[in-house]
Amino acid sequence: MTFHSLGLADELLKAIEQTGYTTPTPVQLQAIPAALAGSDLLVSSHTGSGKTAAFTLPALHRIIDRRPAQGSGPRVLVLTPTRELAQQVEKAVQTYGKALRWLNTACLVGGAPMFAQIKQLQRQCDVVVATPGRLLDHLNRRKIKLSDVEVLILDEADRMLDMGFAEDIDAIVAATPAKRQTLLFSATLDGVVGNLASRLTRNPQRIEIEVAQEDRGQIEQRLMFADDLGHKSRLLHALLGEDGMNQAVVFTATKRSADELSLSLQEKGIAAAALHGDMHQTQRNRTLDRLRQGRIGVLVATDVAARGIDVAGISHVINFDPPRQAEDYVHRIGRTGRAGRDGVAITLSGPRETGLIRAIERFTGDRLAVHTIPGMEPSPRKPAGPRPAGSARRPSGGGYGRPGGEARRGGYGRDGQSSGRGYGDRRERAARG
Ligand code: AMP
Repeated sequence: MTFHSLGLADELLKAIEQTGYTTPTPVQLQAIPAALAGSDLLVSSHTGSGKTAAFTLPALHRIIDRRPAQGSGPRVLVLTPTRELAQQVEKAVQTYGKALRWLNTACLVGGAPMFAQIKQLQRQCDVVVATPGRLLDHLNRRKIKLSDVEVLILDEADRMLDMGFAEDIDAIVAATPAKRQTLLFSATLDGVVGNLASRLTRNPQRIEIEVAQEDRGQIEQRLMFADDLGHKSRLLHALLGEDGMNQAVVFTATKRSADELSLSLQEKGIAAAALHGDMHQTQRNRTLDRLRQGRIGVLVATDVAARGIDVAGISHVINFDPPRQAEDYVHRIGRTGRAGRDGVAITLSGPRETGLIRAIERFTGDRLAVHTIPGMEPSPRKPAGPRPAGSARRPSGGGYGRPGGEARRGGYGRDGQSSGRGYGDRRERAARG
């Protein structure tokens, strides 16, 4: 199957050809013809599935024929949860819309100067990509009108709801025409996303994209137990020196620990930088540019700031702090294994974080393979509850990434019995961490 069979305009096919993509991904294969037919869509798809092109291409196709009268508002509106994602989407719009010489885009995100955005809005903007808070700000100041919106796209809708944007989204949607086409993309379509979807869409076509088994195999997932923060830091340092390490994103739970960890890595001579929501937008952009150019080896980031980062050189994701929300694990590890390359995702778990690890394993349905580095194994711990007979107290497995040494893994046997999980030997507590 090629892009030519999807019904897209020649100008768009030419732009796709220039990107080098020859075959549509599953989400593109299903969503593009459905969107071209005019349906509202509810699409469950993950980062890395090619979802950006799946909504950008049909939206551009819709506006390809005519230029609007001067003074009209955007005809395509894309809402995204984060600034970085908004910038990536705008870039995709410009890439696929290259042949439309008249096409103007605007990216309205928080943290960037208001004035420059207002100036941008004074000229004709055909496509606006925005985070909800900033767009609402412009709307309330009457700097933008949304009455000409023909296609409304919600990218990562689940994430926008997680971030508390529900009311902002409702207010924005109320300013768009009822007869618009709505395309909603989300990792999940259940729960609150389902409620939002039923408010915003009419007779939507539901498209659910399974993550292909072979695609999942691209990221090797490892778990390492640590006694305390100092032990985690030593493990991190050893991991950053491992073979195959190109660039890494290290996740921390707070902005402050991202700053502190980045600083301590810098002090050890590592080209590290922090990325989090307290940084000014220009500073964040500069950091991301340096990451893309390979001038930063280790990006220490928080969840929200790192969402949507698409840099092929990221060989490793290291969860210095495991994510509080199991869903975030999937988003985090998706920063590696980009552009068809393999990736490694390593989660460091302290003694009090095993509940979070269990939550991740329940969410993904996969057991994480336990690894240790020789000489840096965690201390043996007294199990809190009864253990299955014969199970070891310490994680098994040897080192990895060492010249001439094959990775050996501990973890669970195929029968689902623990074959040695460090703190994981503890009985699971009822409450999730
Ligand atoms: P996304 O899920 O939109 O973040 O896209 C993930 C990555 O896949 C991006 O680097 C895209 O440029 C790339 N991509 C999108 N469509 C295709 C395609 N049909 N073939 C190969 N790569 C693609």
